[in-house]
This record gives sequence, C-alpha cells and structure tokens, in this order.
Amino acid sequence: MTKKKKQAQDEGSLFLPQIVKIGGHHIQIICPYTFTEAAGCHGMIDHAAGEIRIATVDSGGQERDTTRIIHTYWHEVLHAIDRVYAMGRLNDMKDGEAIVEALAEGLTQHCMENDLPRIGGES
Ligand SMILES: [Zn+2]
Repeated sequence: MTKKKKQAQDEGSLFLPQIVKIGGHHIQIICPYTFTEAAGCHGMIDHAAGEIRIATVDSGGQERDTTRIIHTYWHEVLHAIDRVYAMGRLNDMKDGEAIVEALAEGLTQHCMENDLPRIGGES
C-alpha cells in the first residue's frame, strides 16, 4: 500500500475521479449527489447524460461508509463497461445485477487493500 493511500485511509478521506473514460465515452462522476428521482437509491448511471451519480448520505440521512461509496462507484462503472464493451449483455442476464454486485464487492476489497498497478505517476 502506498504511503499516500495509507494516509488517506487513516484520515478517512475519499478520492474519486471527477471524470473517467470508458471506451470512447467520458463519464462525469457526481459525488456527493442527492437522489430525488429514486428513493433509497445510492448510485445511478445515466448513460445518455454521461454521468455516474453517487450519494454520500443514505435515505435515512446517515453518512455512508467510504467502503460503500467505493462499492457504488465500482458498481456503476461496471454498468458502464458492460454497456460500452458488451452491449449490455450483463444487464440483460437474469442474474446480471447480482454479478455486478459481486464484481463491485471484489473490486472494492481489492482496491482498498492493495497497491494497484499503474503506468507512470508516483507510487
Ligand atoms: Zn446496478
């Protein structure tokens, strides 16, 4: 684990990119986002708008754990990857949402507990 990542975890701070590129699409990450369109929703991708929206507060008004926010980030990114690279096949599968949840949980654990491979930049 990098010194910077360890420090961020110790301080409880959260870094999410403001924009990600998936295939040829730029997707803006809007966090924190307050959902008015769907009660109890913590995350949503709007493919047409090119936005991933993530709540930092749950429907009961409680701050969400950093781990849950990161899980939501990966969940919505996986939906974007599915749509761009697999033409939504995962979304169309009977258990597609459960698979997205499982993969998001795995990615969350992996990125929180390991150094991630990268090209360039400081380690
Ligand atoms: Zn989903």
